[in-house]
Amino acid sequence: MILFEEALATVLAQGAGFKPGYERVHLSETLGSVLAEDIFSDMDMPPFDKSAVDGYAFQMSSESQILAPFEIAEIIAAGSVPARVLKEGQCSKIMTGAMVPSGANCVVMVEDTELAGESHVRFTGKITAKNICYRGEDVKKGDLVLKKGTQIAPAHIAVLAAVGATSPLMAKLPRVGIISTGDELVEPDTAPGKAQIRNSNGWQLEAQVKTVPAKPSYYGIVSDEGPGLKKIIEQALNENDVILLTGGVSMGDFDFVPANMEELGINILFKSIAIQPGKPTVFGRRNNTFIFGLPGNPVSSFVLFEIMVKPFLQTMMGFSGRLPELKLPMGVDYSRRTSVRKSIIPVTIEDGKVFPVQYHGSAHIDAYTIANAIMYMEIGTSMIKNGELVYVRPI
Ligand code: AMP
Ligand code: MG
Repeated sequence: MILFEEALATVLAQGAGFKPGYERVHLSETLGSVLAEDIFSDMDMPPFDKSAVDGYAFQMSSESQILAPFEIAEIIAAGSVPARVLKEGQCSKIMTGAMVPSGANCVVMVEDTELAGESHVRFTGKITAKNICYRGEDVKKGDLVLKKGTQIAPAHIAVLAAVGATSPLMAKLPRVGIISTGDELVEPDTAPGKAQIRNSNGWQLEAQVKTVPAKPSYYGIVSDEGPGLKKIIEQALNENDVILLTGGVSMGDFDFVPANMEELGINILFKSIAIQPGKPTVFGRRNNTFIFGLPGNPVSSFVLFEIMVKPFLQTMMGFSGRLPELKLPMGVDYSRRTSVRKSIIPVTIEDGKVFPVQYHGSAHIDAYTIANAIMYMEIGTSMIKNGELVYVRPI
């Protein structure tokens, strides 16, 4: 049994050595994927001095000068180039986003003005801001705007669009094969017979893989015994970058997954982790394909995916960031019976405080339909008091 931190480091080191393959994709298809090149701006942003408000552009020199009415030289719409150079006593009516004309260094908001006849305007309020966004104040031409290794979120897509990077180079999504093992399992559309249950974690894992995002393929339910399991693992090894197997990894008489993995020439890097739930988690590799044997209980596979498989898949794609972990105060006392493993506990965060949700153990996936975060309880800790700070991570 190894520490979770050791297991995670092993997994991430393996993922970092993976070459995902790269492709250029349209920016509208990049959401969630990892950028495989640095992106530089092809222009200053803003590209010209532009008005931040609807109002009147003029040359501000002294307070007294602005009391007299100004002659309106022209109206400047967003997208049009000013035709007039302003002289003393003149202003131009200007729209938000329009180019500030030569001879102006300030824009008065329309709310602070009143018309004085047909062609003049008077400034009524105190002028407190210039209301101009200056050329290049956000980004200069040639600036690095997005780093290789960035996982693309909507704001990154706005930046790609703004600098004209319409086909950025992206890491290909890993292909992930999912295999559910267990003689007690039937698919959700079948009524379980006596001593049977529905396969829930295969479908859960498929959804979790999509959130990374990676490309799931589902291989169905395989019996604990017989040659079927080895055959399907062999097939999945040839068709995927990663395999997620569930069930059959503990100490039961029918838990043959680790033995089958070894017989298939898979190099097993660890077989058990000091974590609760998820202790009998197996990780191995054959050539360029990685395989996780996750415990069959839906909470175990859910949690292990979130804290280990997901970061692994992201690392395979070259993602350089990490999910933020917060330290927040407990909202109640919480205790557990043993403290020999690190615990992952489903919680809700309410008003900045952490509340464990009712949770009966690793088959009780319902707890995770209520939880919006997980909290960690470290080895050696069996009690956390109301108000004490704990590490939590949104899920
Ligand atoms: P195992 O890891 O095979 O020892 O299974 C541990 C527990 O998880 C047992 O109660 C299994 O019935 C249950 N289980 C295994 N696979 C699944 C699955 N795909 N969906 C839901 N429960 C499962
Ligand atoms: Mg089983």
